[in-house]
Amino acid sequence: MTKKTIKLAVFSAKPYDKKYLSEVADRFPGAVEVFFYDFALKPKTTSVAKGVDAVCVFVNDDLSAPVLQALHEAGVRAVLLRCAGYNNVDLAVAKQLGIFVANVPSYSPESVAEFAVALLQVLNRHIHRAYNRVRDGNFNLQGLVGTTLHGKTVGLVGLGKIGFAFARILHGYGCRLLAYDPFPNNAFLELGEFRSLEELLSECDIISLHCPLTEQTRHIINDSSLAQMKKGALLINTSRGGLIHTKSVITALKKGQLGGLGIDVYEEEGDLFYKDHSGDIIQDDQLMRLLTFPNVVVTGHQAFLTEEALVEIATTTFQNLHDLITGQECRNSLVKN
Ligand code: NAD
Repeated sequence: MTKKTIKLAVFSAKPYDKKYLSEVADRFPGAVEVFFYDFALKPKTTSVAKGVDAVCVFVNDDLSAPVLQALHEAGVRAVLLRCAGYNNVDLAVAKQLGIFVANVPSYSPESVAEFAVALLQVLNRHIHRAYNRVRDGNFNLQGLVGTTLHGKTVGLVGLGKIGFAFARILHGYGCRLLAYDPFPNNAFLELGEFRSLEELLSECDIISLHCPLTEQTRHIINDSSLAQMKKGALLINTSRGGLIHTKSVITALKKGQLGGLGIDVYEEEGDLFYKDHSGDIIQDDQLMRLLTFPNVVVTGHQAFLTEEALVEIATTTFQNLHDLITGQECRNSLVKN
């Protein structure tokens, strides 16, 4: 890409994306003209990319084969993900079409890890229920008995940057830490021990998911893995919704096999999250059933949402574009053409 002014279309752009991306774009060497669209990239919206050089997308944008094909025909040569996960991109097709794809592999892992701990604390000490009661003038404590995290066994499924940050925090709480990762990092041995997934499931009071969504990890939490967990264990997912088979967790919650669920991500979040549906009849019966449990806390994929992360995301996104424009090797490139 050697044009003088690069045209960049940013999809699923929220006001905070505009703020941080615009600030970084202004400081960026080279001319980039940025167009912000608040709607997602999907088959119906590819036409707005006509004549742009690159698109910038987020977790729920659709970069399946037909979308990539349409982008290519529209003249798009680069896909800049402003997130770490890339399960929504057909990388094989991007490679065939010669489309550059780069992600932001790391942006403040502490932002997500601290949020996972917050979800765990809210769930464990019933803060979501206490908040609503107090606002209603009800100061009764019945039903709000919690447990300490100190002394509990916490299992991490996936021990990368976020899992490690989560482990460091919970080590400070005095938890016993176990981890399952097919590519174990021995630096963890200062904080805890590795286990097989089966051992981890049966030994832990709390399980937190920090692995990517892949064909191997899709529905890693299912009827069978839930049955292997300790009765009453808490499950936290700040990673990707598809790691959990939702119907199975609903059954496990109804039976009391699962003691509580804190999720920032949901399998079918694509059409719901990041939008205001407060006046709508939400058609997703599984999500609505989850919201009826007193021991379920759901947030709308916001674990990353800190000032620190937004600055890092914007900076790395523009650095990836800069590497492409200047012909430098991009260390965040996901497609080696
Ligand atoms: P990372 O690549 O640093 O770590 C992922 C770890 O998972 C690696 O150590 C890898 O070996 C391990 N892993 C791979 N396959 C596995 C399997 N089958 N079982 C167990 N572990 C496996 O990634 P990260 O930066 O720690 O991010 C983890 C995930 O968090 C991302 O993939 C993304 O989906 C999610 N995320 C969510 C948010 C949010 O806002 N909720 C923000 C950022 C990232």
